Amino acid sequence: MTQYIISYTKPHNHYVDVEFIAGGIDADETLIQLPAWRPGRYELGNFAKNIQRWQAFDEKGNALFFEKIKKDCWKVQTKGVKQIHIKYNYYAAELNAGSTYLDNTQLYMNPVNCCVYIPERINESCELQLLLPNDYNVAIGLIEPQSQKIKTPHSFVFDDFHELADSPFIASNSLKNQQFENNGVTFYVWLQGECTPNWNIIIRDFKKFVQEQMLMMKAFPAKSYHFLFQILPYRAYHGVEHVTSTVITLGPGYNLMKGSLYEDLLGVSSHELFHAWNIKTIRPAEMLPYDYSQENYSRLGYVSEGVTTYYGDSLLYRSGVFTTEQYLKTFAERLQKHVDNFGRFNLSVAESSFDTWLDGYTKGVANRKTSIYDEGCLLAFITDMFIRKHSNNKHSLDDVMVHLYQEFALKQKGYTEKDYKGIIEYYANNSFDEVFDNYINNASDYQPALLDAMDYIGCELIMNATSQQHEHCLGIKVSEIGGICKVNAVYPHSIADNAGIAINDEILAVNGIQLKPEGNNTNFTEWCNYFIANNNTIRLSLASSRMMNEVELKPLPNSYYKVVSMQKQKQANSIQKANFELWSKNKF
Ligand SMILES: [Zn+2]
Repeated sequence: MTQYIISYTKPHNHYVDVEFIAGGIDADETLIQLPAWRPGRYELGNFAKNIQRWQAFDEKGNALFFEKIKKDCWKVQTKGVKQIHIKYNYYAAELNAGSTYLDNTQLYMNPVNCCVYIPERINESCELQLLLPNDYNVAIGLIEPQSQKIKTPHSFVFDDFHELADSPFIASNSLKNQQFENNGVTFYVWLQGECTPNWNIIIRDFKKFVQEQMLMMKAFPAKSYHFLFQILPYRAYHGVEHVTSTVITLGPGYNLMKGSLYEDLLGVSSHELFHAWNIKTIRPAEMLPYDYSQENYSRLGYVSEGVTTYYGDSLLYRSGVFTTEQYLKTFAERLQKHVDNFGRFNLSVAESSFDTWLDGYTKGVANRKTSIYDEGCLLAFITDMFIRKHSNNKHSLDDVMVHLYQEFALKQKGYTEKDYKGIIEYYANNSFDEVFDNYINNASDYQPALLDAMDYIGCELIMNATSQQHEHCLGIKVSEIGGICKVNAVYPHSIADNAGIAINDEILAVNGIQLKPEGNNTNFTEWCNYFIANNNTIRLSLASSRMMNEVELKPLPNSYYKVVSMQKQKQANSIQKANFELWSKNKF
């Protein structure tokens, strides 16, 4: 068994001290690796940049010679050494759902950021000892009835490094907590940070979607599950999945129980819980087991994130936590991103899955890629309707996920693209080639398939002109930050595009009227709406990267950007209504 001892002296400096002790050393050289990425975010995190100093000793305290052979891998000379003792510090000043953070109020750790391992001993059990103030509680995914893994309130044992890496924790003396049971599993909700939770409402809603997810998947992968919330004083929205827990950052805390932030809380919680099955246990073959030292490429991100996004929202709807209006609002957001994203004609969602390692979490260059979340969610919807239609509602995507859980996850087998397609075809009793080839593996507009899928449940795609004249008449979208108006999207082949307007151009004036800051915004939209309503030609004064530019545009109403949504058809027939009700568990 290897051992980790975590301590700190000056929490305001944000440095965590880590000691890693491994006995049974019998080689002349020992490799020590720090993860280069963390599961849940499929890009390199390069956590080693947070290590300030790193030292190695033998069992007698003699310093050992070492050299760094990769950015996060050390080779230590261990000839004649029985026990290796590594001491290093880790800078923990970033607070998001996948980071490590230390201050005077808490120690929050994702061990995958800051715990080293010996690659060939990754499957060996390990112990984590936390040297913390006595009044600190630890919220961690190991707490379950009769857990053998909690040695003391501040020390824990793990079956292997994978379990340690998958067990983030929050240690503090100000955690708030409630719990509830569902079908033999205990669910804990932990809140760290300034907020006033209404526990009655939170537990009422959590019980509903938890029950709906367990009903669908039939069994849960763990005996207990922990929602670890970092409630922050500023705007935040981020979640990371684990088998027995999730960490979610959300803020601002003063809005916790209000409107859209509380909807966000439910949305991200339902999404992360579904990941306990989909990605944490139902795993693409190429990620089983995880290799923390380098990129783990997969073309299946549209299943792990897309299907999860689809179920995260739709199970809130099915369970009655979300109303039809709330569900259609979240669905419309996915649709909107799809129709506004011209990358859909360039890179398929399978190719975009592979490329998360390149630019999966940034906007990236214009019109390059699709999103495993948004396009992935729409494809999950299309796939669900495909199975329902071809099986006369006998089967659905639910069966595919249950099948993947029972026949792959529980047998510790990863699945491939071929497996996924084959299981869909099994339940649909039909070839899935068309969707698989045309939409999943090829860059295209999903509209024909979406119309078909929506029609099956008596719904339709509504496309309206936006209230922003510059979007539908000129073909540009703008962002306004700090009183500066910049072009942030250009509709391909629009009059704006043809006139030479480009992303990041700053708009200085409309028809000679200089734009002025109005708070964070400018009055661009208002002046544009004004002149277009009066049938005027629009003359924009722009600052491009190196020069001033003036363009004249003749507005073409309703030509470019649209507002899209899914709505119920007024003429839906009884069969469509019945399909809708079976799918949503809600009245049409
Ligand atoms: Zn996710």
